Amino acid sequence: MYYSEPEAQLNNRQLYCPRGKVQGGSGSINAMIYMRGQPHDFDDWERAGNRGWGFRDVLPYFKRLESHPAGDTKYHGSKGKIRISSMKEGAHAICRTFVEGARQTGFPLTGDFNGEHYEGAGIYDLNARNGERSSSSFEYLHPALSRKNLRIERNVTVRRVLFDGKRAMGVQASRKGEALQFRAKREVIMSAGAVDSPKLMQLSGLGEHALLAKHGIPVVHELPAVGKNLQDHLCVSFYYRATVKTLNDELRPLFGKVKAALQYLTARKGPLSMSVNQSGGFFKGDTAEAEPNLQLYFNPLSYRIPKSSKAQL
Ligand SMILES: Cc1cc2nc3c(=O)[nH]c(=O)nc-3n(C[C@H](O)[C@H](O)[C@H](O)COP(=O)(O)OP(=O)(O)OC[C@H]3O[C@@H](n4cnc5c(N)ncnc54)[C@H](O)[C@@H]3O)c2cc1C
Repeated sequence: MYYSEPEAQLNNRQLYCPRGKVQGGSGSINAMIYMRGQPHDFDDWERAGNRGWGFRDVLPYFKRLESHPAGDTKYHGSKGKIRISSMKEGAHAICRTFVEGARQTGFPLTGDFNGEHYEGAGIYDLNARNGERSSSSFEYLHPALSRKNLRIERNVTVRRVLFDGKRAMGVQASRKGEALQFRAKREVIMSAGAVDSPKLMQLSGLGEHALLAKHGIPVVHELPAVGKNLQDHLCVSFYYRATVKTLNDELRPLFGKVKAALQYLTARKGPLSMSVNQSGGFFKGDTAEAEPNLQLYFNPLSYRIPKSSKAQL
């Protein structure tokens, strides 16, 4: 439940920036929309000088991680650990109306956002199997839990990386106020996400000298770019009053809640087996754009973002 610092370009508003503080990270709490990066984004990376990051280079890995209902095709794989399911059958009626509306307005439609044509409107795929989240934690970590060379320390917050000169050799951490230290025999891998990794780097003495000095953090290595230039997908929500029943109408009465629960428990179907984001698409904000630069979600319900004080790790 993080909030950003006041954004000068957004009238100093603080934007909601949730992260999953849990095993599996945000992948354990996210909306389960199975969406790869767009091919041209990877090709842009490659053009910027990053060999091995073009779409043709990363596609085999995307195929390898998934078990897709389409089977083995040019764009999909059938033997991976992450189970993909389609929401086409179960999506709320109002989502189909959205897709039909897009068609009538002249926008293209797509049946597979991870296939050949991602531009246009459609119903999203889900990383779920049988109505349950299929995430890196469930599919990769859980089966490996019994390995002798794996130990998970739960409820532990890493406070900083420890260095021997400029070589990372462990981490200092805490669990419910108790100080802990872990030493690495070979390497320290930091995977705390786009928000917490740079924060942890700064706390460890990797960052802009003046900033670290202001907070009394000894500089291990000056890297002024750490913690700067985060670019995220800015999301704007529009709410419309619907003239047909939405999921809010269906789930508000007790009867609706019981029905959805029974549907889920008996058949692993219904709204509780799916994402709140069911339809949407990729569109060009301007016809002059070479590639789509907008992603839409069209949801069958509306909800409020929780107001909280700034969460701290
Ligand atoms: C609400 C929400 C909805 C989303 N919906 C979708 C979606 O539908 N489809 C999609 O593709 N993507 C979605 N995303 C984005 C996607 O989940 C993230 O891009 C992805 O999980 C990022 O992975 P990561 O490993 O980089 O970081 P994270 O998943 O954030 O993992 C970081 C991990 O590090 C841990 N950590 C951080 N700091 C410390 C510390 N100091 N000590 C110990 N541990 C620490 C965290 O607890 C967490 O477990 C969504 C994200 C959110 C938050």
